[in-house]
Amino acid sequence: MKVISFEEAYKTVMDNVSDKGTETVSFIESLNRILAEDVASDMEMPPFNKATVDGFACRRSDLGVELAIIETIAAGTEPSKTLSAGECSRIMTGAAVPEGADMVFMVEDSEVLQSGKVKFRGSFTKENIAIRGEDIKAGDIVLRKGKLIRPQEIAVMASVGHTSVVVSKKPVVAVISSGNELVEPYDAPAKSQIRNSNAYQLLTQLLRAGVLGKYYGIARDDKEATFLLLKQAIAECDVVLITGGVSMGDFDFIPEVMESAGVKILFARVNVQPGKPTTFGIHRDAIVFGLPGNPVSSFTQFELLVRPLICKMMGYDLNPVSIQLPMKVEFSRRMAERHAFIPVIITPDSMVKPVEYHGSAHISALSLADGIISLPAGKQTIERGEIVSVRQI
Ligand code: AMP
Ligand code: MG
Repeated sequence: MKVISFEEAYKTVMDNVSDKGTETVSFIESLNRILAEDVASDMEMPPFNKATVDGFACRRSDLGVELAIIETIAAGTEPSKTLSAGECSRIMTGAAVPEGADMVFMVEDSEVLQSGKVKFRGSFTKENIAIRGEDIKAGDIVLRKGKLIRPQEIAVMASVGHTSVVVSKKPVVAVISSGNELVEPYDAPAKSQIRNSNAYQLLTQLLRAGVLGKYYGIARDDKEATFLLLKQAIAECDVVLITGGVSMGDFDFIPEVMESAGVKILFARVNVQPGKPTTFGIHRDAIVFGLPGNPVSSFTQFELLVRPLICKMMGYDLNPVSIQLPMKVEFSRRMAERHAFIPVIITPDSMVKPVEYHGSAHISALSLADGIISLPAGKQTIERGEIVSVRQI
């Protein structure tokens, strides 16, 4: 079977992304969605000359003299008087600066005299006025298409009154486990059985990527049963993730079942560790991943291949932040043919140490890991002190 490089696998996956289109949702429901339109401001920001401190609005040329207080302006009320020389208005943060004033001095810099007048007591003061339109002009684009919506973006939409928003549709993603040895986490495994961890790992990896997965249960190692489940998932979902049954065992017939369900397999072996048997195919109705049964492999290949695909389907280029840190210890491997992804710990002194790891079934090793590092094919050793790029997981 043809083994392709990780880069080639990634490209194949990303080249087969189909756009799911868009939908309109209420802005408060748009958290973690991808903006599918530009959002423009319907007003200037600030919409009026606004005091940025509590204090007294006056003319700078009057700073040396005693000022008569002509009114008090609270935030949200319109000033009713125009200031003349020798006058000031008491003003609150966020209130509109009255006509005739060119600055606001702070309460902290003021003294109210016996006479009821007020005097500036500071040595220096800024204007303390946010000028109308200084942040945003009416019609300015405040959010661009393709942006991931976080609470900050929700605040921007709230401030410009954009209460319905066009976002990319989310794909519907199926999760299927396969294997006769599996029981669900709620059940006690009999001898020779283990609990199904992959499905729950994948469902929550999906959730973390902003997608609610659809769980189809455990397919028994039976071609007919697996075929029916796969067919149903393909018909109902945009992406199907099935784990297990893709390696070389007698009961590893997932690729064969995929083909009989009408899936065109584009690759079935990737030169990576863990996750070599990762299988990828396309169908008119869905994209199908056959992920390895080993939980560490399934986790890693989801992060490396599935998650970027799902993000792109939602209109978003996943660019995971990597941090550059030095290795605390030397790392060496016997065989270097494969492109390795190694779970690592970031130590309290900000260095990188591989976790103790007994292979791709060692799920608790991943739980200790803070990130993964990538070791390209052909590279056998990472020296102590060498800078590595850690992708957080
Ligand atoms: P397979 O790819 O089906 O040969 O499975 C490879 C290994 O992963 C075997 O040790 C399986 O028992 C294990 N495995 C497969 N599916 C799961 C799962 N859903 N949860 C935990 N381990 C699994
Ligand atoms: Mg199996």
